[in-house]
Amino acid sequence: MPSGRVHNLVNIGAYSLLSAVALIGSRQELFTLTPAQALTFTLGFAVGTFLLSPDLDLAEGRVDSKRHWGLLGVLWVPYGMLFSHRGLSHTWLLGPLTRLAYLALMVALVVGLLSYVAPSVTLPELPQPISLKVLAPLILGYYLSQWLHLIADGVRPDHGVRRSYRKLRRR
Ligand SMILES: [Zn+2]
Repeated sequence: MPSGRVHNLVNIGAYSLLSAVALIGSRQELFTLTPAQALTFTLGFAVGTFLLSPDLDLAEGRVDSKRHWGLLGVLWVPYGMLFSHRGLSHTWLLGPLTRLAYLALMVALVVGLLSYVAPSVTLPELPQPISLKVLAPLILGYYLSQWLHLIADGVRPDHGVRRSYRKLRRR
């Protein structure tokens, strides 16, 4: 299994390559890429690489992606206990979603707790509605970072499907 450092290097390398392609492609006017799209893609990719790595399924122990959260890393311990290493967390479609859902749950818990403990604190609001133009590159960047991790792990796209199929047959 590649270490967190190797995963980071793989993702940074792929990102550099993509940036070069994007730069050349838009210079040659093969496609148009707005700075906002490039930025949100980068954001999604960076968050996926450094903060929401599939290896958070090891967060009950010491793992690189948990360390990046600093003190907040402790919030991922239940995720690590909930998900077995390289199980559902390492599937291509649902895996990345489990971490987004878990993050949303944690944010909701913290916001709920904050409004209970300190009701006078006003929280920053998200601009409404979030347009698809912003959301699409963000999600693309996030998923791509996850898939690069899975490829480096040698996990195939039908990983989860095969697992549940085997489970069904065993019954
Ligand atoms: Zn992994």
